[in-house]
Amino acid sequence: MSEVSKYFSIAAGFGNVHGVYKPGNVKLRPELLQKHQQFVKEKTNAKDDKPVFLVFHGGSGSSVDDFRQAISYGVVKVNLDTDMQWAYLSGVRDYVLNKKDYLMTQVGNPDGEDKPVSDQVRSACEVYTNTRLEQKVLRPSW
Ligand SMILES: [Zn+2]
Repeated sequence: MSEVSKYFSIAAGFGNVHGVYKPGNVKLRPELLQKHQQFVKEKTNAKDDKPVFLVFHGGSGSSVDDFRQAISYGVVKVNLDTDMQWAYLSGVRDYVLNKKDYLMTQVGNPDGEDKPVSDQVRSACEVYTNTRLEQKVLRPSW
């Protein structure tokens, strides 16, 4: 492993899957990661209890406890693509749905027939940024 790079990492499976599924369909077993580490330690005679950098693919929809446990077993990177896409989409979607009357023409909106849409676009950027920062998915308490 170290011949590849000292930062070589492994996306070892422990029940994780890409995407988000109906609750109950994904059963994570982060404790398997500890067994993976133990196996590598024995096979390589490593001194470190966590000789491998592990990657948690398919993290979207997982609980904070699952992340904590996985990290405690040597996960150094988590992938949350579906959750990130959803967060991005929902912010844009909500803004467009709430402000659609302001976004139909470049000039003219409910505030006046000569008002430019650029004011609304500037406002949308501020709303989007502030909303994302308020959501727990992007700012977990751990
Ligand atoms: Zn992946």
